Amino acid sequence: MKIAIVGSGYVGLVTGVCLADFGHDVVCIDKDERKIAALEQGQIPIYEPGLSDLVASNVAAGRLTFTTNLASAVPSADVVFIAVGTPSRRGDGHADLSFVYAVAREVAASVSGFTVVATKSTVPVGTGDEVAHIIASTNPNADVAVVSNPEFLREGAAIDDFKRPDRIVVGIEDERARAVMTEVYRPLYLNQAPLMFTNRRTAELIKYAANAFLAMKITFINEIADLCEAAGGNVQEVARGIGLDNRIGSKFLHAGPGYGGSCFPKDTLALVKIAQDFGSPMRLVETTVSINDQRKRAMSRKVIAACGGDVRGKTIGVLGLTFKPNTDDMREAPSIDIIQGLLDKGANVVAYDPQGMEPARDMMDKVSFAKGAYEVAKGADALVLITEWNEFRSLDLDRLRETMKTPILVDLRNVYSHAEANKHGFAYSSIGRPLVENETLSLTDAAE
Ligand code: NAD
Repeated sequence: MKIAIVGSGYVGLVTGVCLADFGHDVVCIDKDERKIAALEQGQIPIYEPGLSDLVASNVAAGRLTFTTNLASAVPSADVVFIAVGTPSRRGDGHADLSFVYAVAREVAASVSGFTVVATKSTVPVGTGDEVAHIIASTNPNADVAVVSNPEFLREGAAIDDFKRPDRIVVGIEDERARAVMTEVYRPLYLNQAPLMFTNRRTAELIKYAANAFLAMKITFINEIADLCEAAGGNVQEVARGIGLDNRIGSKFLHAGPGYGGSCFPKDTLALVKIAQDFGSPMRLVETTVSINDQRKRAMSRKVIAACGGDVRGKTIGVLGLTFKPNTDDMREAPSIDIIQGLLDKGANVVAYDPQGMEPARDMMDKVSFAKGAYEVAKGADALVLITEWNEFRSLDLDRLRETMKTPILVDLRNVYSHAEANKHGFAYSSIGRPLVENETLSLTDAAE
């Protein structure tokens, strides 16, 4: 099949390369000339494990190409995926659909023969209707079936998620699209990944409902963590105790500094807004958004408290900046609010992240950057672990402590334990765990 992907970011590029790997003939389109030029030279503009090799092998096999010229790529495509960004609209939190609609107009102008236009971008319910309307009004002769095919991949595990999805959701209004989309995903279907067809509006709602539910689950365990701190419980054990219940499940029950990233914050907010517009407010999600917003800033207060209530003139070392490990994505990362909270109170901040330093430099002009965890620790009054990269999981705590001014470790991901940190001379605080504990969990449990 001939497939064109419009938007070659985290989702578009991963979708394109995986579909090429299934044997389809794929062209990835982007309006960002630098991005396409880099891709043509074999450079991958984002950090995603395994992506570089998969791009190289599919380019070499002649199944994957890149272009900025949408008009040249679309006419021969059987399926055009829209995978452009849908950020929060400035000012009101609705999803900004201007990129999606711009692509719909461009596709309409160059489409030829029956074509499926599949929206992979996360879009509010009803967007598919508008895309179909834009295409029909821009080019009344266009023979197009607009489908919703939301993407559920996670950054950091994107290729595996795409190739081994829990399910593929396709929302259709035109029966002709069913056979085409079944063919697109045939290799996965043969692997028994459930391919779920529904109507377009339902598919759009499934994506937002999934993200909102996961965001609520994280927020729930974060509040339980606060209660554990107040009442003297251990949140990791509570999470394990409830997660072993199959009705609940153990995933997304890791207490931390609040969710961030390119999806949950904007998608929960967009769901809140669209639900209000439909006169059907989602109060659980509204509350989740507000709790999470406050939590990120509260984490800087936690660090300040661990430093004796004052960080003015003190140097705080930060380990991890990206919103989660194995990505270079800094969008809505909790580190942004936490660091700002520390800077506002007069701290100096030194930070290190394995992949996120380049994007972080553009956003954090008052932060100094170090080359590694041990350099961050040098002369620091406290260390804050914000992102649980693997390389922060087995740090030599003695080596860290020796170069620090004061051995304080604030572990916002519960990577270490009180017992371990205390043994190496650290004053230690974490999320939702008592100061004196009987650690029954292994680190593997904690890291899961
Ligand atoms: P991104 O910002 O990484 O990539 C979007 C790309 O689209 C950019 O390279 C941009 O230059 C390009 N683009 C914008 N307008 C264009 C146009 N008119 N023509 C050609 N290219 C254009 O975004 P992303 O993280 O890949 O997200 C894309 C969509 O997928 C969003 O709706 C997001 O919510 C959704 N999504 C993202 C993830 C994730 O983990 N990042 C997961 C699931 C769904």
